Amino acid sequence: MGAVEEGPRRLQVGQYACPHCRLPQDHVATLDQDWVLLEPGVEVPAHLVPAEHRWITLSDGRVTVYGVCPPDGAQRCRIEHRLACARQPLPDLWPWLTALRGENARAAERRSDPEQPRPREVWPDAG
Ligand SMILES: [Zn+2]
Repeated sequence: MGAVEEGPRRLQVGQYACPHCRLPQDHVATLDQDWVLLEPGVEVPAHLVPAEHRWITLSDGRVTVYGVCPPDGAQRCRIEHRLACARQPLPDLWPWLTALRGENARAAERRSDPEQPRPREVWPDAG
């Protein structure tokens, strides 16, 4: 630490204004020599947050992604400001759900095919 950072406007030590909404975000060092911008003052139960977005604070003040799965019911975590920012699109928080929605979009398309209603492909080819 102590290096001069470039980039977003510094508000006070450890905080930067979000370039999208101008609200403050905590600028926190991560375990792997990186930085992350966290939502100030928000800690939520880990199980409410998608796995890759659970930041926990270590004893030295740095943060890392919480790797315990399923999460301890008492574990609380922090989240990145970009997830809470009203001016940024929400990233894909649940990739499996997005994949399922894609599958269903294709299935719905096949069903509404006006040419020839095909039987639904329910049973996968057993080979
Ligand atoms: Zn913002």
